Amino acid sequence: MIGAGAIGASAALHLARAGARVVVLEKESGPAQHQSGRNSGVIHAGYNLKPGTLKAKYCVEGSRRLRAYCRERGIPMVEGGILIVARTGAERATLDELHRRAQGNGVQSRIVDEREIREIEPHAVGIAGLHAPEGASFDAARYVAALLDDARAARVETRFGVAVRSIAEGASGVRVTTSAGVLEAGVVLNCAGLYADRLAGALAQDLRIIPFRGYYAELVPERVGLIRSHVYAVPDLTFPFLGVHLSRRADGRVIVGPGAMLAFGREAYRFAQVQLGDLSGTLAWPGFWRMMRQPRFRSLIRSEVMKSLFLKRIWAEARLLIPELGARELVRSFAGNRAQVVNRAGELVDDIVVRESARTVHVLNAVSPGLTCSLPFGEYLAQVCSSALLPHHVSPPRTGNDKERDVTHD
Ligand SMILES: Cc1cc2nc3c(=O)[nH]c(=O)nc-3n(C[C@H](O)[C@H](O)[C@H](O)COP(=O)(O)OP(=O)(O)OC[C@H]3O[C@@H](n4cnc5c(N)ncnc54)[C@H](O)[C@@H]3O)c2cc1C
Repeated sequence: MIGAGAIGASAALHLARAGARVVVLEKESGPAQHQSGRNSGVIHAGYNLKPGTLKAKYCVEGSRRLRAYCRERGIPMVEGGILIVARTGAERATLDELHRRAQGNGVQSRIVDEREIREIEPHAVGIAGLHAPEGASFDAARYVAALLDDARAARVETRFGVAVRSIAEGASGVRVTTSAGVLEAGVVLNCAGLYADRLAGALAQDLRIIPFRGYYAELVPERVGLIRSHVYAVPDLTFPFLGVHLSRRADGRVIVGPGAMLAFGREAYRFAQVQLGDLSGTLAWPGFWRMMRQPRFRSLIRSEVMKSLFLKRIWAEARLLIPELGARELVRSFAGNRAQVVNRAGELVDDIVVRESARTVHVLNAVSPGLTCSLPFGEYLAQVCSSALLPHHVSPPRTGNDKERDVTHD
């Protein structure tokens, strides 16, 4: 198993509970150092996801299971619901589409008027809203740590500071070359997040991870009372990003963001930081140039550059939702990069992608709401790996060239 983020930790736990011997290899010195520890920390309700997608399926189930797990394991969580606020007629129409999606996904939600907006979030302003009471905040890093504690109790071995360099699949096993030597495994599950496409090699040659940085500001401590729970702007549904929101975290801080800026490195978290190998990989990808040819992307990037450079630009967006927010009441906060998959046609892939061969399983595009999805999705991955380990017991025998087998779900 590669990667000790939320998806890897959940899959490891489920695999061990199914009786497999699991070793988790993680290049960092501890868990959740990348996407799983650098995010909004929202347990999404699933109101915005297209019904029928893997994200919708796992998010709706995952939200309920994750809230139960947090209660059971004492992980800090605030269950205050999510309010999406429309300010124009066009946004009001999108709100109706979100409401339809919520209903299609079986997510509790209702359209609220101006007065009800004020009742739910006294400082928010809009002509209408959508309220999803099941939305919550939680401590994502503590969650991953708890999953790994449970996994270790189920005899999972975790090895930190071990980077996987390559995976070579043979007829009877997989040879895993790492920074700490070579290992043999029956099956390899690749949950390497921002680097998952590289390890997937030929199985992901039609896809490339292009990192999009989500950068945050946060309210100064004296003004966190402006937000009770979560206030979201209506998203632009042509992008797989949720748009700006003000969110009360489980630790009481209120974050504003995240942006969606192209990052010049998969783990480059500052605006001017460049990781040359990653940047050249992005620039060499034909899909990147096809994406950039689209005027809506160029316009997104222009706006993101301005917001990355000038805090006032973030404030100007946040103020549309919370007009009382003063320009000096925001400070810069942390950032996290999304492992967004872009195909050769330049399209941002929307749903989770799983690719597998006979003895390897690769998770791609586990972007937001991947934390919320992680319990049922990890369970699903454990089933796929178990069936590869015990093909005759769990799944029907495979035919044809397994190496070429592709079970992309997008
Ligand atoms: C800005 C932002 C906001 C988000 N907000 C939310 C939210 O509010 N709610 C929600 O549900 N989801 C949210 N998400 C999505 C969520 O964070 C991810 O879907 C989830 O964390 C993905 O988990 P993962 O385990 O796949 O990846 P990661 O957490 O990135 O873990 C991958 C791990 O693999 C390791 N690794 C990589 N390469 C190697 C290698 N070669 N050898 C060994 N180890 C390796 C990395 O070090 C890392 O620890 C957000 C994401 C971002 C970026």
